[in-house]
Formats: sequence, structure tokens, C-alpha cells
Amino acid sequence: MASSVIAREQVLDVRNPRTGQADHRLVVTRAEEVAAKAARLRDNQREWAAMPLDARCGVMGRWLGVVRRAAADIGNADAVDTGGCHTSYIQGFITMANIGGWIEDAGKALDNYQFHGRSAVMPDVEVRTQLVPYSLVGVISPWNAPLMLAMLDAIPALFAGSAVLIKPSEVTPRVIEAIFETVREVPELAAVFDYVAGAGDVGQAVIEEVDLVCFTGSVPTGRKVAVACAQRLIPCFLELGGKDPAIVTADADLERAATAVLRGAVYATGQVCYSTERVYVHESIHDEFVALLAQKARHVRLNTPDPRAGHIGPFTFAPQADIVLRHLEEAKSAGAQVLTGGEIENHDGGLYMRPTVLTGVTHDMAIMREETFGPCVPVMAYSDIDEAIRLANDTQFGLTASVIAGNEEDALAIGRQINAGAVFLQDTFLTFGKMRTVGTHSFGFSGLGGSRTGLDSILRFVRRKALMTQHGAVADIQDDHHLGAPKGPPQ
Ligand code: NDP
Repeated sequence: MASSVIAREQVLDVRNPRTGQADHRLVVTRAEEVAAKAARLRDNQREWAAMPLDARCGVMGRWLGVVRRAAADIGNADAVDTGGCHTSYIQGFITMANIGGWIEDAGKALDNYQFHGRSAVMPDVEVRTQLVPYSLVGVISPWNAPLMLAMLDAIPALFAGSAVLIKPSEVTPRVIEAIFETVREVPELAAVFDYVAGAGDVGQAVIEEVDLVCFTGSVPTGRKVAVACAQRLIPCFLELGGKDPAIVTADADLERAATAVLRGAVYATGQVCYSTERVYVHESIHDEFVALLAQKARHVRLNTPDPRAGHIGPFTFAPQADIVLRHLEEAKSAGAQVLTGGEIENHDGGLYMRPTVLTGVTHDMAIMREETFGPCVPVMAYSDIDEAIRLANDTQFGLTASVIAGNEEDALAIGRQINAGAVFLQDTFLTFGKMRTVGTHSFGFSGLGGSRTGLDSILRFVRRKALMTQHGAVADIQDDHHLGAPKGPPQ
């Protein structure tokens, strides 16, 4: 990415994924400005945390109204940032659902975590809890689903009473600018919610200033973030990459399986953390499944020249196309066959790839081991279900997985044996289903820390403090039996 220094201001040119041209500029937040913003947020957070939750919900409700009016513009900004994936256009509405959901749920979630009563061990002692929010939460977010993945952590943190400082990806800044136009219309919220702009060094500057970090991104960067947080001894929650498998059993409905696998693998050009990245199909149906998958793949259209037409868009981040090509070239030279797609196509400056179905792959290949993050569907045959489960679990990741079997019971039984935080049965791409319902934990390198979904996800942002009152006599050090321990040895 080109950069230039104007006076003391560093400006980054931002590429448009549909044209390949830089048509947006980003003024990088200097380290001293990051510190100044953090100090301002931290000061204002005291008043925000002191408000009753109902009052914070009132402020968030007003913000919801502003977001509703701006929802279409927010969606359009997200679409320019990403190149126009289907869900981009509804990102304003997804943000509204996120805010509205927490207006309903925050009180319940925080109350569930409170306790007031007698100690089980010391009955004269009354125990009450107090939830103390972390003052300043840092959110570092990636270029895929750039608004949703920043707001998923930021919004519950605000409800919990924290102030929030976001460092979005420098690749996709437009939608963050659009959402902060709405934040500025609600002064009480703007006092505790801000963002900084720039690349990894600005992310590191944020880590230096905050009390807790939520990071979504790649494993290598996640590791750097974890090290920086460890140096400061502050908590960090990591949502990282995946290499998500799909298993299709011998008796699966082929039409259903091919439809679900294709969508799971190529939606948003495969630039989704829980994309299906490798497929294991029983050898008895392998050829038929692959033929059907390839046939369906050929019908997928690129969304060029009209971003709202077609099914998949360009690569959001141009260097990602090089990673995908490297995986494909390496697989081909080791004997894999590419049945569809496989080429980078340049349309008006945007870099596209059609759904790419491959066979003849093995677990020695990067395309079966490393996150590809492109519209590739490598398919491998297995001979018995234990082998399929072993292959699915043969990975350093464990974000999600899919199983499509002949019946729901079999799918469930197989799903129970896969090491992943979420397993989609008889379909792919069901992760939205757990958003407000249940929290999950990823396996392996896919994540670390408490869940970002479900009611409990708000608990990441509060410390639970216990206040204990002695109602009985205080213990005397010379007759110290206050724990109720027997006075002599057991009889
Ligand atoms: P990166 O890890 O490259 O970047 C993520 C964020 O970290 C960006 O804002 C980036 O800034 C910033 N950053 C870069 N270097 C540092 C550093 N040294 N210290 C602090 N922050 C830094 O991820 P991508 O943006 O490429 O996103 C794609 C990845 O995200 C994929 O691996 C995908 O699987 C994963 N992901 C995981 C999800 C999950 O829920 N598990 C969801 C979505 C994506 P900048 O971009 O400006 O350089």
C-alpha cells in the first residue's frame, strides 16, 4: 500500500477492490494521538460506568435510531470496502440487530452473573457481587466483514460500561468512518467510543493504552497481539483463522450436499473465517458429487460490472489473491486437478476468481492445511467414516465444521467427534444461528478466551468483585475456629 508523509501527517492510499485504484485516503493516527484518545475515553468512562444500565440502554437506543436512518449508507460503504459481497449491503441492519439484541439481553446476562446471599462455607458471612467493567477495551478488527467483526465485540463492551477504542483494518476504513458519523450524533456515546486509523503499528499503540483487547484476524498477527498483551498482563480474546472441513457421507442427499458445500466454500469469495475450506466425500459417491459440484460451480457469476448482480465479488485485499494462487499452483504441481475456475481474472482493475473445484488433493498440500481464504473447494475421497473424522481433525485449527449425512442422527454422531467450536449439521454456514443463543470455544489455533457469541459474551468485559460482610463474631487468632473446622482430630 502506497504511503506518503505530508508535514507530520502520514496518509495511506486505500485501494478500491473493484477498480484496483486508490480512491480513498486515510490519515494515520499518530502514537501520541492514540494515547490522547485513550486518555479522553478513559476519563469519560467513569461517568458511563456509573450510569444505571437502563440509562446506558437509553443512549444505545438513541444510537440505534440514528443507525436505522443511516443503514443504507453504512451498507454501501461496507460494499465499497469489500467489493460488494451480499451481506455488505445489510451491515447497517446487522448492526441494528446487534444493538437491539443487547438492549434486550444485557440486563439479563449481567444479572445472571450477580450473587447476593449467604456464604456456603461461612454462614454468618453475607456475600454480594459487584461487576466492574474494564475501563477501556481495545478492538482490533480485520478487513473481512469489517463492520460486523468490529461491532460484535464493541457493542456488548459498551453495554457492560466500558469505553471502546477500535483499530480497524487499514484495508477497509470507509465503513468505520460511516458508522462513526452516526456515533457523533449521540454525544454521550461519542464520549466513550472512538477509533484510530492505521496499520499494525497503530494496533500495537492501542494495545499499549487499553485494559483488554479483542482481536479478530490471522494466526500470525494474533500471536503478536497475544505477546504484546502478555507483556502488559492484560486479557486478550483472540478470534483467528480456520481451515474448516465438511464431511459428506455415502448416503447423503447429493443435491443438498453439493448446494450447501458450494455456498459454504465460495460465499463472499471464500473470504469468511468459517468458510468450508476442505471437503471429504465417501469414495462411493466421490465422482458423482464432484461432477455435480463442478456443474453448480460453473453457474456462479461474478458481481461485475454490477456489484448488486452476480454471486461473488473481487478479492477485497489484493495480496490475498497471491496466497490463493500459491496454494493452487503448489497443489497442481503435486498432482491435483482443477475442474473449474483456478485463474485470477482482472475485470476493470478488480481481481476475481470463479469457484475453483479441485480433486486429487492430499494432506501434504497447503490447500488442505493452511487457510486459503479464497473460493476454492478441494475435495478428497475417504473410505470409512473414521478416516473422514481423522482427516477433519488433522489440523491446527478448529473454528467450524460441517457434516452432511444420510440422516440427522448420523450427522449429529459424526459432528460430536469433530474438534471445532461450531459444527453445522445437514448444511454449512449456520454460525449466525448461535449468535444470540449460545457461546462457543474454538479449538486449536482458531481462538483463545471466552466466547464472543451468546449472552455470556458480555461477561468478558466485567470483573466480578465479591463484597463480604461478617454478621457474626470476628475470629480470635488465639481461638481460630471460625471456618467451622473440627476442634480435635477426627474420631
Ligand atoms: P490480520 O491478522 O492481518 O489483521 C487483523 C488486524 O490486526 C488488522 O486491523 C491489522 O491491521 C491489525 N494488525 C496487523 N498487524 C498488527 C500488529 N502487529 N499488532 C496489532 N494489530 C495488527 O488479519 P486480516 O485483516 O488479514 O483478516 C483475515 C483473517 O482474519 C483471516 O485469518 C480470518 O480467518 C480471520 N478472521 C477470523 C474470524 C473469527 O471469528 N475467528 C472472523 C473473521 C476473520 P491492518 O489490516 O491495517 O494491517
